[in-house]
Amino acid sequence: MNGLRAPAPAPPAEAAFDPEALRAQFPILRTKMQGRPLVYLDSAASTQKPARVIERLKSFYERDYANIHRGVYELSQRASALHDEARRKVQAFLGARDWREIVFVRNATEAINLVAYAFLRPKLEPGDEILVTEMEHHANIVPWQIVAGERGARVVAAPITDAGELDLDALAERITGRTRLVSVVWVSNVLGTVNPVAEIVALAHRKGVPVLIDAAQAVQHQPVDVAALDCDFLVCSAHKTYGPSGVGALYGKAELLDAMPPWQGGGDMIEKVGFEGTTFNEIPFRFEAGTPDIAGIVAFGEALDFLGELGLEAVARHEAALIAHAQRSLAQIPGLRVLGAPKERRSAIAFTLEGAHPQDIGMLLDLDGIAIRTGHHCAMPLHERFGLSASARMSVGVYNSEADIDALTAGLRRIAGMFQ
Ligand code: PLP
Repeated sequence: MNGLRAPAPAPPAEAAFDPEALRAQFPILRTKMQGRPLVYLDSAASTQKPARVIERLKSFYERDYANIHRGVYELSQRASALHDEARRKVQAFLGARDWREIVFVRNATEAINLVAYAFLRPKLEPGDEILVTEMEHHANIVPWQIVAGERGARVVAAPITDAGELDLDALAERITGRTRLVSVVWVSNVLGTVNPVAEIVALAHRKGVPVLIDAAQAVQHQPVDVAALDCDFLVCSAHKTYGPSGVGALYGKAELLDAMPPWQGGGDMIEKVGFEGTTFNEIPFRFEAGTPDIAGIVAFGEALDFLGELGLEAVARHEAALIAHAQRSLAQIPGLRVLGAPKERRSAIAFTLEGAHPQDIGMLLDLDGIAIRTGHHCAMPLHERFGLSASARMSVGVYNSEADIDALTAGLRRIAGMFQ
């Protein structure tokens, strides 16, 4: 069991990976940068949005908008129904058994904070540990450090190898009687390493420890099935899955969410309010205080429809071919060092170029209309592990083609010639 659904029958959508046709669905990819066609290779930071998602945001405000769960009038009921429908879409997309297991939040970061404050904090005692890995995004380090600091607990990191893979034996050793939670990234936003999350869940569960999966870089690249994975929590962001920014989802097992106190108070999360005391709403509403980004949530559902129609198996194949092409091409550039060499890599490749600061690489590529990421990519401990303070990172999405990778390679060749 690896958390992936049984392979779908060969999707008719394969034809949708005609790069030109797919690219044409993304209006921003028609714009020019520095007078050149935009080559967007920063989807790990945020994906671009297809016209249908942008149109859904617009049409929701034009035709369907009102506040939800409050009005008896038709428009409010329609908006509420669309919001509820989006939750069912997220449920189906993630493979959750129950719609109540999906909590809408602002992003993956907020989902992790929710678990840190409402699930972990009440049960943390001095000496307790939260186990993460050396390849985590800061969003999966800092929230744990904050609650751990308040309670005399600490965050422990499982080491990674020079290939940028988790050392599973070392990880298993670090799950002890003091471990209260294992929180691990599925796909590294820097190395692209795909971690064996099903194996990690099984390992931790054998020792009675719950597991959170940071799937911010996973759910847009491959099928996911939280019920098969048996993870306790999983987090993701809409803006990395072709949806709008400002919306994310937390999956949590119903029995765990049900036992958790609220973490923010306000409208919608209550059952009955009085000055002598307040009782709280059922899950998931208990964790959704105040008016959410209603239009964003509806458009998130549209983005998941877009991905579902492409077929996640087909997306995975398309992107795997691009990453393989990129690895071959980058290996030909003198002085270029790729961080890590994991057996399974998805979506992202980080690298350095001898003599050139990553910032310079990013700025020079921008002159060619090529957008990549430079810096620490919110993963300082990972860069430290590789003896670096920064790197350059290319990452792909469904709209990329081999021509984009070739443009990057040509740009990097020129830059290598300038600095070496
Ligand atoms: N986790 C990983 C692996 C990420 O790559 C990111 C964002 O880059 C996050 C968490 C945080 O996502 P967000 O900024 O959408 O909350």
